[in-house]
Amino acid sequence: MNKLFTFGKYLKKKFKTKVKKVPISIPGFTCPNIDGTVARGGCVFCENESFSPNFQKEKFTLNLYSTENPLLQKQLKSLKSQFFNTVPLLKKYYGAKKFIVYFQSFTNTYAPFSTLKTLYEKALSFPEVIGISIGTRTDSITDETLEYLAWLSKKHEIWIEYGIQTSNNETLKRINRGHDFENVIKTINKTKNMKLNVCGHLIFGLPGETQKDMLKSVEDSINLNIDSIKFHPLYVTNNTLLANDYKKGKFIPITEEEYIDTLIKAIKMLPNHISIQRMTAGTKNLLAPNWCKNKSTQLSHIHKALKKAGIKL
Ligand code: SF4
Repeated sequence: MNKLFTFGKYLKKKFKTKVKKVPISIPGFTCPNIDGTVARGGCVFCENESFSPNFQKEKFTLNLYSTENPLLQKQLKSLKSQFFNTVPLLKKYYGAKKFIVYFQSFTNTYAPFSTLKTLYEKALSFPEVIGISIGTRTDSITDETLEYLAWLSKKHEIWIEYGIQTSNNETLKRINRGHDFENVIKTINKTKNMKLNVCGHLIFGLPGETQKDMLKSVEDSINLNIDSIKFHPLYVTNNTLLANDYKKGKFIPITEEEYIDTLIKAIKMLPNHISIQRMTAGTKNLLAPNWCKNKSTQLSHIHKALKKAGIKL
């Protein structure tokens, strides 16, 4: 890739107008890697309630195996208020005219099918919404949900965002991911066979990884025929297992120089049809690395490096 193909450009070309994603966090949603179904505690970098001494699996009633959802009305209300609070800002600051509802926090396919269907359909019913994007894990999506999303995709823009993080099984174990790369391959192949759009999420700077490992993950993700990609550096936040390792000197975060160098190499590897949804990320409660504190500074350094590398913005 020698010209940056962002997700914004992809959407503009397809819908002939400015489209923005509206991030949503559904109350009551959790993750099988936190509640004990797959593992407890979550990925080492995940900030979650399982660190609380009062944490109990029973607290979360919503999982794939539940049949009832007493929280549904609350979830619908919250979805609606988050959407209508965010949209005016996206219109004002970005001139957005159409929207994709982005189910972002936790595992957004880890709930009874009837709950998922109700929430997705509600999101699609909002004005100026052209689609939905669903963040999830490759071990937490049923065939029933995939088939339903494939049916929805005939009329709407549907994206599934899978956390790949790395293709290295040793690292996946080290970060307590709860599944291996074979699971990623199996689920993404199935999703692509249903002609759904897939965005893969990769993290650079995972414990024990060299640049070679990180670029291998990029190559392996490209080979899965994904349509879009997100990159970000591994940062340490409070209340994570990684924070303990960092404080004990057992984990050293990636430097800005290495991150940007890896990112540029990764972007150069991408075929022209894979859009880029994210080149870095910001976070609250940051402990390290310090250079991740300011997202706009990070982006300005990345843009400079892209220009230097001959990649047009
Ligand atoms: S999959 Fe996501 S929500 Fe679940 S533990 Fe890992 S980072 Fe947290």
